[in-house]
Amino acid sequence: MVRKPPRKAIKTEATDVVDKVKTAVATAKATVKKAVASKRKAARDPDSDAENDPTCDSCHEKEESDDDAVKKPAPKKRKTTAAPSKKGDTMAPLAARTPVTLLKRAMYIGAHVSAAGGVQNALTNASSIGGNAFALFLKSQRKWTSPPLTDESKSAFLSLAKTTPYSPAHILPHGSYLVNLAQPDPAKAAQAFSCFVDDLERCAALGITLYNFHPGSTGGAAMPSACARIAAQLNRAHAATPGTNVVTVLENMCGSGNVVGSRFEELRAIIDGVEDQTRVGVCLDTCHAFAAGYDLRTPASFAAAMAEFDRVVGLRYLRALHLNDSKAPLGSHRDLHANIGTGFLGLRAFHNIMNFEGFEGLPMVLETPIDEKGPGGKAVENKQVWADEIKLLESLIGMDADAKEFAALEAELQAKGEGERNKIQEQVDKKAEKDAKKGARGAAKKKPAKRKKEEADDEDESD
Ligand SMILES: [Zn+2]
Ligand SMILES: [Zn+2]
Repeated sequence: MVRKPPRKAIKTEATDVVDKVKTAVATAKATVKKAVASKRKAARDPDSDAENDPTCDSCHEKEESDDDAVKKPAPKKRKTTAAPSKKGDTMAPLAARTPVTLLKRAMYIGAHVSAAGGVQNALTNASSIGGNAFALFLKSQRKWTSPPLTDESKSAFLSLAKTTPYSPAHILPHGSYLVNLAQPDPAKAAQAFSCFVDDLERCAALGITLYNFHPGSTGGAAMPSACARIAAQLNRAHAATPGTNVVTVLENMCGSGNVVGSRFEELRAIIDGVEDQTRVGVCLDTCHAFAAGYDLRTPASFAAAMAEFDRVVGLRYLRALHLNDSKAPLGSHRDLHANIGTGFLGLRAFHNIMNFEGFEGLPMVLETPIDEKGPGGKAVENKQVWADEIKLLESLIGMDADAKEFAALEAELQAKGEGERNKIQEQVDKKAEKDAKKGARGAAKKKPAKRKKEEADDEDESD
């Protein structure tokens, strides 16, 4: 008789569930381990554009800046290793793509992957983590000018798109962090506009039909006038790209400083000003929504938030989701993405999301942190985190949330994020205390105080 090795005494039902999720990718992981090791030895390709890598750093929480958010110098650059090579991740996949037809709901989950070395690499990178959807930057997200899309890159993307198929409906490019369509200054507005239209043209060349961007910043002006300027720029952009069917997708924001788009009403105001409403949509970022005050944690609060979205914006405008947990509490207006289940949203929120009929067919993109401390304290990307999160989210479809095993998994993930949550909660409490001392007058909407270094260090990867 073959006896199984004894399990660790403390092994819980939760770890069993986690094990199940991990088993789904374990075989591929073992195969790829060797390849990853050799890959990590290779230096980043000098031609690969670090700025095109969504996980190197970001303009995260840049919304706090008064004007465009664009004047703030790019945050410190965190070097990461194990970046994709020029050829993308051509090694064995970290996880296989789940046939969506096997899921109880048609949920297309993926991540914001790197397009370093050429947009075509995003297809391979998305596929290698088992993504059924993906986001990418079409050019550097922190430069005003980028080299044009080469014919080589374009044809590589189009030919790879045949063998690594993704529906255009599940590819969601993310716009530049510099562009502010609410910019009132004519010269700056013209610069933002041409950068924006250039991206729409890149989408059209690649057969991509969605384009996600941050609405903008009021720069201190009244919100209605900012929304009107954004709508006017969208109308011009749509007119400048006739014959393309690229839908410009507004992302909801977390609501710090002068940022536009944290309230559903602001998204609605922009849509109201758009002439061709077939070319405007919304991407709902779960972390941003929660930080803006929309509670998604319980079935009842989630249903209420979705009903409000439907009433104010209209679910028909919803074209995509960004799936991120939040290191910051409800209504904190802090933009700190957390790994699924480890933040203040928690696994129950994602159970609500994965079982909501209204999200079927939409691309769902992870923007969760994947940097881990490598040798010498250097940040190293671990794309297995995304591969596992995709499988975890897929496993929530149809899962009984009242079962013990769900509660155990939920508790295990919450325990993982406890330290981070406590740290950010403390910062939020301190700030609230300070604001209270200053007086209640407009505290919530006032320009945020300059943050301390340790808070700046918490800034997340991508949004
Ligand atoms: Zn974003
Ligand atoms: Zn986002």
